[in-house]
Amino acid sequence: MTQIECTIDLAGPGRQIGYLHLPADPDAGATRVPIVSIANGAGPTVLVSAGNHGDEYEGQIAALRLIREIQPAQVSGRIIVVPVVSTEASRRHSRFWPSGANFNRSFPGNPDGPQNEKLAFFFSTVLFPAADVVIDMHSAGASGWIVPCAHMCVPKDRGQRRLMLEAMEAWNSDFHFFYTSAGNYLPNEAERQGKIVVTTELGGTTRIPVAVQEMAWAGLTNVLRHVGVLEGEVVTRASLGLPPATLVDCRFDDGHVGDVRSGLFDSIVAPVSGIFEVMVEPGSPVAKGQPIGRIWSPQDPASPPTELASPVTGFLMGLKTIPTVEQGQSLALIGPRIERDALLAEP
Ligand SMILES: [Zn+2]
Repeated sequence: MTQIECTIDLAGPGRQIGYLHLPADPDAGATRVPIVSIANGAGPTVLVSAGNHGDEYEGQIAALRLIREIQPAQVSGRIIVVPVVSTEASRRHSRFWPSGANFNRSFPGNPDGPQNEKLAFFFSTVLFPAADVVIDMHSAGASGWIVPCAHMCVPKDRGQRRLMLEAMEAWNSDFHFFYTSAGNYLPNEAERQGKIVVTTELGGTTRIPVAVQEMAWAGLTNVLRHVGVLEGEVVTRASLGLPPATLVDCRFDDGHVGDVRSGLFDSIVAPVSGIFEVMVEPGSPVAKGQPIGRIWSPQDPASPPTELASPVTGFLMGLKTIPTVEQGQSLALIGPRIERDALLAEP
């Protein structure tokens, strides 16, 4: 049984703004997480969350804007927004909770565990069961950059897979990619419950380009229209005069996008320490063996830089953005192109 008190009636109509109160825990810092429901009549329920990792602000801004700008009369069904999940981590510009916990490794959660697990349990047992669609917005955080896009894990169930793919595509980003995860992530649990799950990587690093923030807003509101909870015309890349998005297959480990210590940035691991020079812009095609960057050695200026070759032919999707690197550090996210039909036809 959840120990979290929700101050709004999730079944109630109209716009309600309140909090999730967690039991006090001196290790975990703040214990109040904002939650908002905008409900009107019949229709699907969509859960929108951001700030799962505290230092990923693009989605938090889009979610806060959603709360202010969407009127109940525009909604058919219900939008539940948790705009800044890891509230204290966000305030501290940290990926992790003050206890060190990674909220996106806390699922399905535990009602008797530490605060992050209690909150994950509330998501798993109250919010996900109430939702038809779950949108969790990430970026690469403070020390990385990923081509701004919507992405997804690939569920076994082909019907769910197609619905997730179509919702992901409604973000209208130039790229989408597919990833694997360890099974204890927020999207894993929502997917297990059969939900249409859309996740994002909206750039990253500390400055948010205006175009990325605009894309976060346009993508989020278009997905809400696509699933039928928000009024207005759905736009597609075709209706915008854009070519189809490029789909990239990044399902090659159990790591997490945006975690530069391990995970999807494992496509290239630094063979030496030094200063990382990037030679290819993210979003560019790369050939197997092509150098995407090189590492200079300030302690040995006479020696040539160490080149970092792409392990596959595909697209450079993300990079570590802090130039100082340590030997063994993960630096780049690269994956081959995959065709839409091939993805949908996979067993
Ligand atoms: Zn994240």
